[in-house]
Amino acid sequence: MILIHPPVAKPCEPPGGIAKLAGALKRHGVKHAVLDANLEGLLSLIQGPSTASDRWTARAFRNRHQHLKALRESSIYRTPDRYRRAVADINRLAEMAARQKSILLSLANYQDPALSALRSTDLLRASRHPEHNPFYPYFKSRLESLFEKEPPQVVGFSVNYLSQALCTFAMLGFIRRQWPELTLVLGGGLITSWMQQPGRQNPFEDLVDHLVAGPGEEALLALRGIDGDQASAAEHYRPDYNRLPQKDYLAPGTILPYSASTGCYWNRCRFCPENAEGNPYVALPAERVIADLKVLVDQTRPSLIHFLDNAVSPSLMEALVQQPPGIEWYGFARISRRLADLDFCTALQRSGCVMLKVGLESGAQTVLDAEQKGIDLELAARALRNLKKAGIAAYVYLLFGTPSETITEARATLDFTVRHSDTIDFLNLAIFNLPLCGQQTRQLETQMLYEGDLSLYTGFRHPKGWDRGSVRQFLEKEFKRHPAVRRILIQDPPLFTSNHAPFFKINSLAV
Ligand code: SF4
Repeated sequence: MILIHPPVAKPCEPPGGIAKLAGALKRHGVKHAVLDANLEGLLSLIQGPSTASDRWTARAFRNRHQHLKALRESSIYRTPDRYRRAVADINRLAEMAARQKSILLSLANYQDPALSALRSTDLLRASRHPEHNPFYPYFKSRLESLFEKEPPQVVGFSVNYLSQALCTFAMLGFIRRQWPELTLVLGGGLITSWMQQPGRQNPFEDLVDHLVAGPGEEALLALRGIDGDQASAAEHYRPDYNRLPQKDYLAPGTILPYSASTGCYWNRCRFCPENAEGNPYVALPAERVIADLKVLVDQTRPSLIHFLDNAVSPSLMEALVQQPPGIEWYGFARISRRLADLDFCTALQRSGCVMLKVGLESGAQTVLDAEQKGIDLELAARALRNLKKAGIAAYVYLLFGTPSETITEARATLDFTVRHSDTIDFLNLAIFNLPLCGQQTRQLETQMLYEGDLSLYTGFRHPKGWDRGSVRQFLEKEFKRHPAVRRILIQDPPLFTSNHAPFFKINSLAV
């Protein structure tokens, strides 16, 4: 069996999805291989023959090895200008290599102007013409040599981002054409979201043998005849990162991704896809997480732990304070009473917490209440102050254009951000998308925004006239232009954003 992480996703950390599946296969003694085709594919374009037709690309090509080396060392994260130059140059090489095939490629995204990743007919078209994909030369030779050495019976793709969809189907089409007898399996977060939409059929029956919604461990083990009592969906498998090329990722040392839970323990925010899709909250006991981390830290010697949870639970934070993993860590957290306590924040920092990503969403209490965010603005201000005092960076997420917002509330968010700008290290600004199957969809007048049968969102008529165009204009012309906001936005690591942000905050890296 082979598990594949397809392009394109940020190539800075090993993929948690296939590592988890590999852990399950290993536990049950199933022979398998893992392939990070995203990392290898991007590196093949970056390090491939020169595509230079201009001075920038020529310079980037000359410096490519030096840039790649620098991004894997800590010192460049202390000199933001050098970092920006290296990322821009590396990205330029990938971009120009794909442009020959008319693809808009970056280190974080993949767009084909002629094909939509939201349309099943376009995905099937990508599968019929894999040679049109810019990664084709890479995956053709890589898969041929891999399959020649050790022919698999099952090939599994883990697809978590829309930016992976078209490349996944190009690879599927190539494999189906070359090795028609193989069993092809498709799973991961994006596939789960697709399959959870009401009334959705499998539009890929002729190409893919199995579409898996939710955790894939049980389905993969069942394909090897391991089922029932031997493997249950509720069983937890420690991820296995040993077969992934840990030294090749674009980060200073290994980032160790770890999921202590799926779903969200709050699960009430009206705008949230987790809530709309009805994903249940399943958390590992904190002791189990601590025990797993001990083993994984020993095995991978990481420079940073990345919690993948929608929100690290207060009980896990407590456990990390009691038994620190010995490595810096970061992840999403809800603003809570805990973070409004300076002693707790200080203890959290001592446990290795270097950065928290917090979904504040709005600086207007009326919006927070209407959207059931469960956050009090005064408490949020105190939490941000405490994080700052404790030395934990705050990566604050804001959401504009929710049904309960108008320009007045958006300006209140600007006001809150400016007043607390000295406590905010990084900002993420997003425009609200209405989940197709959310509770709000039934209350709003909807209109198709994204053409495509696989779309997870729908357009809607904003009840207060605060449409996407007006929101975008406000963000560009007013919000982002405020000097206090600009000062924060400029700190954001280009393309890698929150994945690299902690490295700018870690003073001494153990690499
Ligand atoms: S806290 Fe975050 S993940 Fe949880 S429901 Fe709200 S937005 Fe969704």
